[in-house]
Amino acid sequence: MKRLFGMLFAVMVACLCAACGAPPEPYTKTAVIMDTVVTIEAEDGEREQAVDEGMAYLQKIDALASQNAGSDLELLRLSAGNGQWVAISPEVFEMLEMSQEWAEKTDGAFDVTVGPVVWLWGIGTEYAKVPSEAELAEARSHVGWQKLELDKSATSARLTEAGMRIHLGAIAKGYAIDGLCAIFKKHGVKNGLVSLGGSSMYAFGKSPKRKPWRIGIRHPRSDDAKEYLAVAPLTDAALSSSGDYERYFEQDGVRYHHIFDPVTGRPADTGVLGVTVIATGGHAGTLTDILTTTLFVMGEEKGKAFLKTCGADASALFIMQEGDTFHFCAATSGDAPAMQDVLTDVAESAQWEAE
Ligand code: ADP
Ligand code: MG
Repeated sequence: MKRLFGMLFAVMVACLCAACGAPPEPYTKTAVIMDTVVTIEAEDGEREQAVDEGMAYLQKIDALASQNAGSDLELLRLSAGNGQWVAISPEVFEMLEMSQEWAEKTDGAFDVTVGPVVWLWGIGTEYAKVPSEAELAEARSHVGWQKLELDKSATSARLTEAGMRIHLGAIAKGYAIDGLCAIFKKHGVKNGLVSLGGSSMYAFGKSPKRKPWRIGIRHPRSDDAKEYLAVAPLTDAALSSSGDYERYFEQDGVRYHHIFDPVTGRPADTGVLGVTVIATGGHAGTLTDILTTTLFVMGEEKGKAFLKTCGADASALFIMQEGDTFHFCAATSGDAPAMQDVLTDVAESAQWEAE
């Protein structure tokens, strides 16, 4: 009997040790939301509630930011130019407010009223085409952030000209990341990862290996979305990327992609293939999402100068190409670290540009 108790005690101790040594099983869910594959993973805290609430939240933002019948954006489009104010949900209003703030700062390089141009080109849809000059001029004439008016006291908005429309594709995923951060915090999740199609991500704490999360910087010319040019080891930081490889079509050897210069109404053509931005702190998701599109439109030289004075703490990477070599150009603002000090595992085909 004594021996039996002894053995039982030994087994119990062994089980307990296994439990304290092994990392907890992460709780993960993946779904197609916001037109992309989203993954939410939580390691600790109220993991199940955090992930399930996070998924429901993404569905909500997806519906709110859509152009579907009855949505805020569709009602805004339908009443464009008729002088009527349209009541807007708090979430979409917040996105519009931040968009306008950055439209002003970027002198319109970031502009959610680019909707008519986005719609005309139809990149990523079966209707994608190179529009005629006349069509382009018409669409461009309806773009302009000054023609989107917001009334904060009534949470309402209006577009001052018929033919205008809003597209939130460059901010909604980043905004949703910030919402997921709040949900994780509420449920005490300290370690986890959220990824919205890989283009907007947030790394919470450490990975199950108890190390910073390893986020890949996508190879801009590989068909394999898992081929990386470098790795960003991240802890409590947001990372967004914008590139000409995400949604595009080719015609007569020209690549037409989904990031537009609002001035020309054409896909921004500055020689930049991709931009990645990393930031920490409140609104880091929205900030990085806005900045990648902005810096892509501005290009390397203008983008670097803009970043220095924009008042955010962010690390940016521009990716260019010369022959078979990819050029990495880093830019930093505020207290953020230099990208050269962040990135590891840089591929042989990539080279840092001399400062
Ligand atoms: P992704 O959606 O692949 O993460 P982005 O964050 O760069 O890429 O957003 C691109 C989307 O933003 C486009 O599909 C379009 O809807 C919209 N957009 C394109 N150009 C601009 C611009 N200059 N300002 C604001 N939004 C833009
Ligand atoms: Mg963006």
